[in-house]
Amino acid sequence: METPSNPDARASAEEPAGAGGSESGQEAAQARLGDVLLAVEELWPESLAEDWDAVGIVAGRPERSVERILFAVDPTHEVIDEALEWGADLLITHHPLLLKPVHSVAGTGFKGDAVHRLIEGGCALVTAHTNGDSAVGGVSDVLADAFGLQDTVPLAPAANGLPEEGIGRVGNLPEVATLAEFAELVFSIMPAVAGGVRVAGDPQGLVRRVAVCGGAGDSLFGAVREQQADVYVTADLRHHPASEAREAAVNGRPYLIDVSHFGSEWLWLTPAAGALENVLADQGFSVETRVSTRNTDPWDFILTPG
Ligand SMILES: [Zn+2]
Repeated sequence: METPSNPDARASAEEPAGAGGSESGQEAAQARLGDVLLAVEELWPESLAEDWDAVGIVAGRPERSVERILFAVDPTHEVIDEALEWGADLLITHHPLLLKPVHSVAGTGFKGDAVHRLIEGGCALVTAHTNGDSAVGGVSDVLADAFGLQDTVPLAPAANGLPEEGIGRVGNLPEVATLAEFAELVFSIMPAVAGGVRVAGDPQGLVRRVAVCGGAGDSLFGAVREQQADVYVTADLRHHPASEAREAAVNGRPYLIDVSHFGSEWLWLTPAAGALENVLADQGFSVETRVSTRNTDPWDFILTPG
């Protein structure tokens, strides 16, 4: 259940807080949660979040000091375990714990229990969701970069943002590839998950123009067609949108590549952690960041014919 690229999953909370974490070599000031929130806003402004979204601080006091920050896609029980075992002062997740309004955070339900465990463990929770998708250097940009896309533009430009901000990206591969070759590249970049990668289209069909959207992107088919993408990489493609997109295809395009929702967003965590460290370092603060090693893709195994 662990992603392959981070071997350090020691379950130890014994190291004293403040024992390390600074790589700047300078005397760094102690960051407070409020300082981190300002840095988060600089990187992933709340104004870029969709209307229906719930981003920002979920739990925590702005005056509390922050030395260790764990990044994860989902605030699951296992991820909270990991944060508390490491002694994190802050957990930043892509997905909101409380997207829908709640009337109680009683510890009898798993969401209330999560809130209790975080507060009792001295760990704040912050969400960077569609603002993290849309921003420059966000989920969409990281995916586009991972596939080597050039001359990218947003698939759905942000309503309240710069021209380069928005959900999804479309751009060109440096060289034409077959759909099979490109799918192999996508598969090699994604963290290993049980569901693998699903592809619709002729394996020998040629692709150059690629549209990407981290997470569930089946609302963007109109933009994908408008941008004349040869292939669309996204996650959570349900039967009807996928089937209808294939029926409406012109010369078989856009081909579809359906990846793990978790995986498509997990790629962002490492650059996000680095970017936050840099912004805080510029302000004289030193924090230690870590990317969760927990695979929070909900699927555990798959059966396929043949
Ligand atoms: Zn998502």
